[in-house]
Amino acid sequence: MTQAEIEQIRQKIEQSQAPLVLSHERPDGDAIGSLLAMGLALTRLGKQPSMAMVDGIPSRFQFLPGAADVQKKPPENYDLIIVLDCSDTDRIGFDIAELGKTPDINIDHHPTNERFAEVNYVDHEAAATTELLYHLFLELNIDIDEEISEALMLGILTDTIGFRTSSVHPGLLRTAADLLESGADLTDLYHRALNQRSFLGVQYWGRGLLHLERQGEMLWTELTLEDRKAVGYPGNDDADLVNLLTTIESPNIVLIFVEQTGNKVKVSWRSKLGYNVARVATSFGGGGHEQAAGAMIDGALDEVKARVLEATQKVLEIPVEEDA
Ligand code: 5GP
Ligand code: MN
Repeated sequence: MTQAEIEQIRQKIEQSQAPLVLSHERPDGDAIGSLLAMGLALTRLGKQPSMAMVDGIPSRFQFLPGAADVQKKPPENYDLIIVLDCSDTDRIGFDIAELGKTPDINIDHHPTNERFAEVNYVDHEAAATTELLYHLFLELNIDIDEEISEALMLGILTDTIGFRTSSVHPGLLRTAADLLESGADLTDLYHRALNQRSFLGVQYWGRGLLHLERQGEMLWTELTLEDRKAVGYPGNDDADLVNLLTTIESPNIVLIFVEQTGNKVKVSWRSKLGYNVARVATSFGGGGHEQAAGAMIDGALDEVKARVLEATQKVLEIPVEEDA
């Protein structure tokens, strides 16, 4: 982050009375942690922020400070738009045209970020958007108290799946240590965000595990609308099954296809170091990181699966050096 960028962000926030903070649909821990941390920080600065996320905060994260204030729709009035952890404006899930103005501030760590705002603080070396917020808050002299540290830690913890991804770097552990000192409860967050599973979620996993397929270095499965109905799983996601698939020995790329209503399929990719799945996700209108990417694709499950597997097979054929 350059001094000029910090100054631009500082000025925009200073001039605002009622900032609106947004993050992405089907929110993960980083989206939630970023939104809440920014909301708390703006309140500490004497602003009256509002926070909106199209799918709201899932019940297991409702205990976090500020979670009850998150709306599913933007309010009528705001004078600044801050977008967090979104590589493009489609990710927000609202019709951006209806917001009536270009986003002012975009803070994100995805290499596929489209730099859609007036000020873009984008650093793909950060392990989480909340890691960037930690540094920004220090620059803005915001006291990182217990509530803010809890929200920031949540993003770091979930985007690194408990400090085990290749995005973990020494500075991140120093940040995490600081957040611990400021009061974040790592054990409790770890349990809630990464360890604890709902009974229905695990039954849903069971359906996905039954469809497991493998071909060469690719391994995948699918979750159909029928699977969701059969077990009564309430979400429209994969209940994090993809991360379980990454624990299976040897495939270099794992994928999951989650059938959606409206003839769409949510695809998630995970890869080992040296295989860049962000590019293939982007070619299907999605995005993400080299080792973890996703896309929402129009079409029927079998047809989307065939197209995606064919395109993903090509990633396996590209030597690492050529895929820079
Ligand atoms: P997941 O597969 O767990 O949904 O997401 C993995 C990564 O890909 C995350 O960094 C997420 O932000 C990104 N991602 C997932 N779905 C989409 C999408 O539809 N569009 C974009 N741009 N990124 C996505
Ligand atoms: Mn993130």
